[in-house]
Amino acid sequence: MSSDLWDSKIESMKKDKLKELQLKRLKELVNRVYSKNKYYKLKFDEAGVKPTDIKQLSDIEKIPFLTKHDLREYYPFGLVCTEMDDIVEVHASSGTTGKPVVGPYTANDVDLWGEVMARALYANGMRKSDRMQNAYGYGFFTGAHGFEKGAQKIGAMVITIGSGNTQRQIKILKDFKSTVIACTPSYSLYIAEVAEEQGFDPKNDFNLKLGTFGAEAWSEEMRRNVEKRWGIHAAEHYGLTEIIGPGVVSECKHKKLHINADHFLPEIIDPNTGETLEPGEEGELVFTTLTKEAFPAIRFRTKDLATLFEEPCECGRTLPIQSRIKGRSDDMMKVKGVIVFPSQIEAGLMQVEGVSEFYQIVKTKKGDMTELSVEIEPTETRWREGHLDDLEKKAEDEIYSILNLHVPVKAIQPKTIERSTGKAKRVIER
Ligand SMILES: [Zn+2]
Repeated sequence: MSSDLWDSKIESMKKDKLKELQLKRLKELVNRVYSKNKYYKLKFDEAGVKPTDIKQLSDIEKIPFLTKHDLREYYPFGLVCTEMDDIVEVHASSGTTGKPVVGPYTANDVDLWGEVMARALYANGMRKSDRMQNAYGYGFFTGAHGFEKGAQKIGAMVITIGSGNTQRQIKILKDFKSTVIACTPSYSLYIAEVAEEQGFDPKNDFNLKLGTFGAEAWSEEMRRNVEKRWGIHAAEHYGLTEIIGPGVVSECKHKKLHINADHFLPEIIDPNTGETLEPGEEGELVFTTLTKEAFPAIRFRTKDLATLFEEPCECGRTLPIQSRIKGRSDDMMKVKGVIVFPSQIEAGLMQVEGVSEFYQIVKTKKGDMTELSVEIEPTETRWREGHLDDLEKKAEDEIYSILNLHVPVKAIQPKTIERSTGKAKRVIER
């Protein structure tokens, strides 16, 4: 059992010991940011909080939240808490919705990143003998770099192909006998599709046994399809540039997302009031980086909706568990008074035999009203069979059973929805 843990001392630590460690680190962190960064000091002063006010873990609630808005305001290096000379690596988010989020790292931060990613990949089943085809985009984005650092720490081979050039991905999968693929779940399905066009059977013609997927919200039903299609174990990764990149959680064999809470202290809050919620209640995830040096985030609001659990897991880990992300609060849609997340529609679609993994949610605004419809690509076989209104009806019924909302579904010709080598665009506006 313990051989499945990369760092059993931490990962199976007693709950009260973990809380002691978290409190010690929180106190050090608060002292450090207060004395080293004028913006953090101002934030604390305005809220009337002093570092000495932090006496127990729940005192964290006295500290104001850090938001995306703060990060934009102090772009690029305003929240750095070390000397600029100590920064050895910088990453950034794509910045599609404004200024990018900047992630600076000291040498210790880089080490920490490798360590938590090694924990995560080891928990997924990666070992030294593995060969990981790294099909995340290299560049500014944290994804590829985090997976590379973790895999190398384990001692596995990193195949640094990056994203895109799908024909070449297939050739390298075959020639290099890759055993692990790292990319977005939707890109893995696109690779499978192209491989099939070339006459390969993704399940039997490659050496893959594990997929380490992230950077995309996907449903449990989609995960089952990815696993079936490739004949692999598909593991979920979760992380954010603001926190460290991937490596915030380690998903175990029982598919539980264990938070690396010795470094990233989680909270769940009511997204409307900011009040702290109890374990088991759904709300917005908030993280505090307890040990990061260059850019510590204190009570960062992720906008991701999830639930925290403290129960022990069969895998032996005692680290707290977060549910799969239900959706970003930004992705939430309100249709005829019903709250809708894209992942719920996906969960419905994936129940229907003959619906492929390529679909698109179409959002139409009529005045203040939002209307939704869904376009699905049937599988090639199902498309040739015809009677597609039966398929559409089945998909509508499945969505209705989840949302209690009628969302019209239209079957369109296979291979018309644009394929992505990174994050799939599931919702479009027309
Ligand atoms: Zn577990």
